Amino acid sequence: MLAVKEYGLTDEQIMFRDTVRKFIKDHVPEEYARKCDQEKLVPWEAFNKVAEMGWLGVVIPEKYGGSELGFVELGILLEELSYGYLELATMVYRASVHGAESLLTYGSEEQKEKYLPLIVQGKFKSSLSLTEPNSGSDAASIQVKAVRDGDYYIINGQKIFNSAVNIATRTVLAARTDTTVPKHKGITLFFVDPTTPGIEIERMDTMVFRALGTYQVFYNDVRVHKDDMLGQLNNGWKHLMTNLTKERFAIAAMMTGALRHALDTAINYAKQRVQFGQSISKFQVIQHKLVDMKIEAHLAQLTTYDLAKRIDAKVPSRTEASATKIYVTEAYHRIAIQGMQVLGGYSVTPDFPMERHYRESVLQKIGGGTNEVLRNSMAKDLEL
Ligand SMILES: Cc1cc2nc3c(=O)[nH]c(=O)nc-3n(C[C@H](O)[C@H](O)[C@H](O)COP(=O)(O)OP(=O)(O)OC[C@H]3O[C@@H](n4cnc5c(N)ncnc54)[C@H](O)[C@@H]3O)c2cc1C
Repeated sequence: MLAVKEYGLTDEQIMFRDTVRKFIKDHVPEEYARKCDQEKLVPWEAFNKVAEMGWLGVVIPEKYGGSELGFVELGILLEELSYGYLELATMVYRASVHGAESLLTYGSEEQKEKYLPLIVQGKFKSSLSLTEPNSGSDAASIQVKAVRDGDYYIINGQKIFNSAVNIATRTVLAARTDTTVPKHKGITLFFVDPTTPGIEIERMDTMVFRALGTYQVFYNDVRVHKDDMLGQLNNGWKHLMTNLTKERFAIAAMMTGALRHALDTAINYAKQRVQFGQSISKFQVIQHKLVDMKIEAHLAQLTTYDLAKRIDAKVPSRTEASATKIYVTEAYHRIAIQGMQVLGGYSVTPDFPMERHYRESVLQKIGGGTNEVLRNSMAKDLEL
């Protein structure tokens, strides 16, 4: 009888997973994640090591220096890195999805040749600049304007909640280039260097993303060359939509790693904490909480790798991607809440990672499209 491999992974994929797990053990201990979170330090050492391993090129074709693997491998990488430290995984996600996938899906050949090898080497960081003060879930209503002036576009307006834009080599900026057409049709993407004169970046005070930071960005007569347009004029909305499935998959993979870490933290704590003369893991009520958390962790992995295989097989998966993002992010939040209860009073101290999981799990139901908006999209797919 053929042995059934965990989550249908091949031997090579399991070996890759084990290598990333060892990397996390060796280079990303919990103390490192805690220090980055508490002292607001970008995890550069770990990120540079990820680059040295060649893992920033997992989905990039060999001709641009990548290893041309698939989304199962990207999922393994993001899950395991996130088990170590979510913000490290987020840097890799931004490089692989907002950077590499944007270029691969709608960049010009010249842009691919110029930037993709740099992404693989870890010399090129990306971020996404879509959200504005008056345009969140209704993302197509953005007002930041780009007006043509010779070979340049002049950009004016304000973005908000742009994570890691301060360390980005280029941010994918969505701007309005035509105000006379329906809102979805007048948007263009630009690959903007955040150090361009006229750009002001202001850090926001947030309870999440404390290492990478989240920023407001002000554009005052910023000149961006027409060659830095990403994709076609006025086709930006369509371009953004093409990558949504991959973006939601990547979020799910990262949350799967983070929720597994929250589960393991709770199990280890419950085994060690003694009350009433026995470890609290012997109380049935604690056991049931941990078992419920394990069930959710198992289902999160199943649905994430099922989605990865669908993407690799090029099966249209918009509904499945929404379902996976909703399920996994909400499972993460439920696991973090239960984990807080298992750790009792110690859960609220920064000495344990549970409060970090609790904080981060709140964001994940909001970022990458709120779960309410994703449910709207699924309702449409169901023709309700
Ligand atoms: C820490 C952080 C990092 C982020 N990073 C980035 C980034 O790097 N780049 C970027 O561009 N954006 C980023 N975002 C922005 C994020 O994508 C938006 O916050 C999100 O899209 C929601 O927009 P909003 O906050 O304006 O909420 P709103 O759109 O105002 O929504 C408020 C509430 O109303 C609900 N709602 C809105 N419309 C509907 C509807 N039609 N049906 C049902 N419910 C609805 C929402 O689900 C939500 O519960 C980040 C946000 C945060 C908090």
